[in-house]
Amino acid sequence: MRYFLPDWEDRLDPNYNFENDEFSRDKSIAYDTDIYAHQIFKKPPYDGILVSLAIFKNKINLNSDINGQRQVRTYGSIKEYLKIHPKSKLEVMGDCGAFSYINEEIPPDDYHTEKVAETYQSLRFDYGVSVDHMIPDIIVKKVDGNKKIKIPLTDQQKEQRRQLSISNAKDFIKYHRKKNLNFIPIGAVQGYSPETYADSTARLIEMGYSYIGIGTLVPKSDDEIVEILKRVKKVIAKKNIKIHLFGILRPQIIKEFKSLGVSSLDSASFLRKAWLRAGRNYITKNGDWYAAIRVPYSDNPVLIKNALKEGYSIDKVIEMETKALKVLRDYADRKTKNIEEVLNTILEYDKLLLREYDGNHHYDKYRKTLMDRPWEKCNCEICRKIGVEVIIFRGSNRNKRRGFHNIKIFYDFILKNKS
Ligand SMILES: [Zn+2]
Repeated sequence: MRYFLPDWEDRLDPNYNFENDEFSRDKSIAYDTDIYAHQIFKKPPYDGILVSLAIFKNKINLNSDINGQRQVRTYGSIKEYLKIHPKSKLEVMGDCGAFSYINEEIPPDDYHTEKVAETYQSLRFDYGVSVDHMIPDIIVKKVDGNKKIKIPLTDQQKEQRRQLSISNAKDFIKYHRKKNLNFIPIGAVQGYSPETYADSTARLIEMGYSYIGIGTLVPKSDDEIVEILKRVKKVIAKKNIKIHLFGILRPQIIKEFKSLGVSSLDSASFLRKAWLRAGRNYITKNGDWYAAIRVPYSDNPVLIKNALKEGYSIDKVIEMETKALKVLRDYADRKTKNIEEVLNTILEYDKLLLREYDGNHHYDKYRKTLMDRPWEKCNCEICRKIGVEVIIFRGSNRNKRRGFHNIKIFYDFILKNKS
């Protein structure tokens, strides 16, 4: 099974100075010098990258210039923009990023089929997904200025969105054929029940698609997804049709995906876990998650506010920050073995950031991370190069590296073992 990483412009400074917490370059040249995950690892931790036009809306010129050439930040090719080496086997899939207009009645004008197809073609995408509309149970509308209210979609509205996705898929493949475009078209399948997903699939196969992508799976349970896939598989029968799953990984059912005929998926969840969910930030090849140890920057406004309220001076806060980093590095280098002292130093500083200090909440998790030293056991390029810094929850250069480590582990040990 092939894995695509959704790109949210996750680049980092290759020569970041962790000791002094300094960038190696000026922010104004960040794009030129910063690198992507596929430039860090000898073997990239994904087969391709998914680029959603919505995310690049301000960078990709969707309205072609006089020569008909689209550009993304002055580059005429998406692979050049993503710094993918010409000899690399990495592929790029494009979609509209339907989540960006999920609350709208219909996709905005920018996502007109012809415009989108020409963008994929002009920027030389390998795959392009038809313009679809997601079918959630509830949408959010703004009323009276900024007040947000939740509105359930009616059955009729759900069906309208499904029909719109089907008719866009039809226009898309027709246009693709008429213009003899180079990218491989992927038909987006939307539905709101196993039956409707199966019906949409049947319609797209009739149109001639040999690659379909199934959407609006993110909010669904494992069981619901498996049920949909079973019905879709029946429709596909013995035909040679590839299936992509949008936005989900679900390591616990990856094996089933394979037997149900899934050939590719995308999700950034392992990357994002590095800095989102507390306690599950760093994964090992056995599938165990560890908490990253938070050492916030001393100029964090919340931290300063809390510190001043507690009677600490700014100088004292900076001293605590320096000490927290030092004890962690000393512990990693085995200059100190006193784990309690290390933990106390870290937690004394860490609690300045907690809104309500919740006792041993972090203590146990941090203790486990320190005891097990998972960063020492990982052979990936990042852990070997930066050691304990990878497990420190602090700024994008550490947090993104930890996220890249996570996708490397997912790709090498979870996806490849199970699929
Ligand atoms: Zn690693």
